[in-house]
Amino acid sequence: MTNLLLDLPPLSAARFASIEDRVARLLGTGQDVVITQGEALLPLEGAIRATAGPGTTALNVITGPYGQTFGDWLRDCGATVVDLTVPFHTAVTAEQVRDAFAEHPEIDFVSLVHAEAATGNTNPVAAIGEVVREHGALFYLDAVASVGAEPVLPDAWGVDLCVIGAQKAMGGPAGVSAVSVSERAWARMAANPNAPRRSYLSLLDWKERWIDGGRTTLLHAPAQLEMLALEACVERIETEGLESVMARHASAAAATRAGASALGGGIAPYVHDAADAAPVATTLRAPSGTNASELVARALAADPDLPLAAGGGALAREMIRVNHYGPDATRGTVRACLTALATALKDAGLSVDLPAALTAAEQAWRQSGLAPRTP
Ligand SMILES: *Cc1c(COP(=O)(O)O)cnc(C)c1O
Repeated sequence: MTNLLLDLPPLSAARFASIEDRVARLLGTGQDVVITQGEALLPLEGAIRATAGPGTTALNVITGPYGQTFGDWLRDCGATVVDLTVPFHTAVTAEQVRDAFAEHPEIDFVSLVHAEAATGNTNPVAAIGEVVREHGALFYLDAVASVGAEPVLPDAWGVDLCVIGAQKAMGGPAGVSAVSVSERAWARMAANPNAPRRSYLSLLDWKERWIDGGRTTLLHAPAQLEMLALEACVERIETEGLESVMARHASAAAATRAGASALGGGIAPYVHDAADAAPVATTLRAPSGTNASELVARALAADPDLPLAAGGGALAREMIRVNHYGPDATRGTVRACLTALATALKDAGLSVDLPAALTAAEQAWRQSGLAPRTP
């Protein structure tokens, strides 16, 4: 008896390379794109360990939990780290990055998270990229939560290491990821004696044994199911059109934000300014006197399939996450989430206006479709 999940022919090098090329097209990049055989934390860690060392002074921008992790890796590599932490209800500005360079002109590496699914904010990468380029620093970007939800343009923005994963807005598998690598970044790795080599974390191994060899021989057996899922995911995005996928996310975010604001009961968008709110996921502040985790549990009791979660760690009491990404970036999911949250708030004794919330959400969805879209 054959099994679709088990009895697959081996994935060829040519097929692997063609999937890399399609991912590169999605990012509009002419840089090398390496597909990495693991969740996005693999290239995120591999890229830092390859390019940072005792001689590095890194500006580490923290707008959520991932920035914290990157700072730990950078310190572990021996880099001097300048942390720039902004409150999670806002975004970092290019001006703040400029000020950090003025204070520490020795900064030669900048790590930034584009959008944070965990905190619901998004950072102005294009403007920050200009500042980073002016100072000639290497620019490392975590675009896992932004790719598919909003433009991610490593070449136009001067990003040297741009890491993506397929499991958020792309609606794809979590077990493979990718990183685009600039010539500058390859040169930094080659000059770094501590860059991982002959290691699962090594990007240089892929450069030397895969890319430089003309992509004919893979380093090891590729994660076949995940690669095929990634190929199918990119194909689906190409069919729908990347612009349209991004527009769905922008609309879902606008609708969730407007709906939650109109719902009442004391619930409110967590990110104060709509311009700082990520299209991939919308975070909400639980009404004072309530517990976000309990509200989410109540909402999920009504409908366990909804993409609702409480914030992680210290945010679990105050933050509700509406993860309207991938196939969940739809009117239907937004409405269902607002409806479930209304039920949870009512159960907690708060007074809410669900019809007003649904009307506001619908209006915001329509208006977001009319708004001019910047590239
Ligand atoms: C989701 C996400 C990742 C990937 O990490 P997981 O926790 O394994 O999903 C990395 N960076 C950011 C900003 C993310 O939102």
